[in-house]
Amino acid sequence: MSKKPFVTLEQVKEIAKKYPTPFYLYDEKGIRENAKKVKEAFAWNKGFREYFAVKATPNPFIIDILRDYGCGVDCSSEAELYIAEKMGCTGTDIMFSSNCTPAREYRYAHKLGAIINLDDFTDIEALDQICGIPERICCRYNPGGEFRISNSIMDNPGQAKYGFTHEQMIEGYKILKEKGAKEFGIHAFLASNTVTNDYYPTLARELFELAVELKEKTGAKISFINLSGGVGVPYTPDQEPNDITVIGENVRKVYEEVLVPAGMDDIAIYTEMGRFMLAPYGALVSKVVHQKHTHKEYIGLDACASNLMRPMMYGAYHHITVLGKEDQPCDHLYDVTGSLCENSDKFAVDRMLPKMDYDDYVFIHDSGAHGFSMGYNYNGRLWSAELLLQDDQTVKMIRRPETIQDYLATFDFTDIFQPKESDLIHGIGDKEQNE
Ligand SMILES: *Cc1c(COP(=O)(O)O)cnc(C)c1O
Repeated sequence: MSKKPFVTLEQVKEIAKKYPTPFYLYDEKGIRENAKKVKEAFAWNKGFREYFAVKATPNPFIIDILRDYGCGVDCSSEAELYIAEKMGCTGTDIMFSSNCTPAREYRYAHKLGAIINLDDFTDIEALDQICGIPERICCRYNPGGEFRISNSIMDNPGQAKYGFTHEQMIEGYKILKEKGAKEFGIHAFLASNTVTNDYYPTLARELFELAVELKEKTGAKISFINLSGGVGVPYTPDQEPNDITVIGENVRKVYEEVLVPAGMDDIAIYTEMGRFMLAPYGALVSKVVHQKHTHKEYIGLDACASNLMRPMMYGAYHHITVLGKEDQPCDHLYDVTGSLCENSDKFAVDRMLPKMDYDDYVFIHDSGAHGFSMGYNYNGRLWSAELLLQDDQTVKMIRRPETIQDYLATFDFTDIFQPKESDLIHGIGDKEQNE
């Protein structure tokens, strides 16, 4: 029933001597153990590959760890393709799953030899005009309606902007074939942050049946099926985590039930997980810098929604551990806030926590995916550092904190913000800012 931080108060105090709070901390050991489990869960499938969704944690040091387990990258923008290129990813290491895609991004993806995953029927003609249809191509499917597992509604594809309809898939594969495509993939992302072992197997059945139908109706050679992301993590302590071993095994059963009898036993399974690969293995670490007793009890942190936006954006729950007070009773009711001039800048509302004091360190759990990367600069609040707690328990900085000069870098066409000697004395962009 409780969530355990992957560091102790003593470790964080030591880290904070060198790297002032707030900072993101990632757990290399946890990332590796999980990536290994994912690989093993799908080892029954010869072509299996996880394409890590770069947007979840766009840090080359993190992505490099995942590449040790055979992971490729899933990109959806020019910047993400650039990260992939600089990291030495080429060709089928890259899945380009974009939507509303500018021509130059298709051109770039094509130049890198990435697997292009088309989001819309009209993209077929567009891509043909821009760079021609490659031999290997993928289309994203959206069946519409509601996505259900047993009787519960998991998500609402009918309201989602992504993908081809069923008819468009059939028509699209025919056209792509005429235009010279030889190998096809099918992709779908129908529910987000699912905390049930049934999501992938249910989705797989739908896509496998579609693959059989597409083969029959269009003669297209389906070479891979991309189950995309959506495998979730238990953000609240009462949720049961997904078991990737069970998920892999149940996808295998559906594969043997649907694809093997249709003679389609050479199809590779791809995934594009972000959250499942990283969320539990990253935390935002912050310090209590303010306490306020008005109509409610407020705890103010040195981090804010610029560092972690999910609570503000979705009302998302992120568990908070007050380091060193793990065993104390949660008998105080607090709102835990940042400093933005936005009342929604709260990491927790009406949360029962141990009695908190100035300089307490808090560990905000499950921030390793869609955490840092979703940050923004409202109020001129700056991005924090990202740190890696390595296998040997030493800490390595994998992104430095943003400075005021970084924030103002897009004014470099004028000299208004050119730093002067006197600025540096006042600590612009250096550590003293954090004090
Ligand atoms: C965001 C995204 C993912 C990753 O989703 P998670 O919820 O992090 O698993 C995968 N594929 C596509 C196309 C996405 O947009």
